[in-house]
Amino acid sequence: MVTATKTLLKVTDLYAQFTGFGGTRVVRAIDGINFTLDQGETMGLVGESGCGKTTTCHAIFRLLPPAGDIVSGSIEFDGQDLMQLSDSEMRSIRGRDMGMILQDPMASLDPLFTIMDQVAEPAHHHRGVRGGSLRERVVELLRSVRIPSPEIRMREFPHQMSGGMRQRIVGAISLSGGPKLIVADEPTTNLDVTIQLQYLNLLRDLQQETGVSLVFVTHNLGIVAKMCDKVAVMYAGKIVEQGSVRNIYNNPRHPYTQALIQSIPRLGNKDPLYVIPGQPPNLAELPTGCAFHPRCPFATEKCINEEPPYVSFGDGQESKCWLSVEEAKNG
Ligand code: SF4
Repeated sequence: MVTATKTLLKVTDLYAQFTGFGGTRVVRAIDGINFTLDQGETMGLVGESGCGKTTTCHAIFRLLPPAGDIVSGSIEFDGQDLMQLSDSEMRSIRGRDMGMILQDPMASLDPLFTIMDQVAEPAHHHRGVRGGSLRERVVELLRSVRIPSPEIRMREFPHQMSGGMRQRIVGAISLSGGPKLIVADEPTTNLDVTIQLQYLNLLRDLQQETGVSLVFVTHNLGIVAKMCDKVAVMYAGKIVEQGSVRNIYNNPRHPYTQALIQSIPRLGNKDPLYVIPGQPPNLAELPTGCAFHPRCPFATEKCINEEPPYVSFGDGQESKCWLSVEEAKNG
């Protein structure tokens, strides 16, 4: 029997910006992005620092910092247009239907409350779980994120945990309300390499056990290959290529994706690691035409002057590059 997949999250023509210096400086942090995520699917959102990945996560939660605004576009989540909801409706959705795992676990954990209090809060507040059932739920969640002796450790405070345990506890909090979507923003950046691997395996196991959908933000395409079904590559606030992990790795069409794949460290490779030349652009002063042109080895006059359109290759893979336009034309 073929199981029908349902779209859980659909982001359409989303634009967001930050305004500073009395309105004279505008940073287009998200510049017209489109993507969908099905139930139970994992999507990697990839790119260098400052390309708009984190702003995209915050926009999904409608939690942009004070200088930020969603200018236009829609974010449909589980059949509702989040842009049409009131602030209190959004507060109910966050923590219950959507959870977030941040880079720095200490930013998510309150040093004054026990682990029990913090893991219990979403289940209690959003799902009405109480008393003995709440205690059992916390133990079960801590066990699911591999916290040893959860009945004892749940009485402790965040400072009594190691960095890896703190990040796993943040994972337990994000699952506590029984969400349909978790957004994990560079969750392994502050962990050492062995703990990183354990954490990634844990997240993948939890995702498979619970069927939750996952948006996984990273600058590391190697991690995406391990974790994700599909990938969206961001550059200068735009998604420049997206598609299934298999297609993107086997046949990356955009030169930026090709460069990111080339810069993945490989076991046994003695050559110096490839580094993409130049720097990502300043989002307040974007280059003309294709924003990647100052760093692209294939840039032409057309790339400098005209922004390329998206080209679809019919299997969900899309690329925003003049080379893709030519490739599609030539069949
Ligand atoms: Fe490079 Fe031109 Fe493609 Fe941009 S449009 S990625 S500059 S080839």
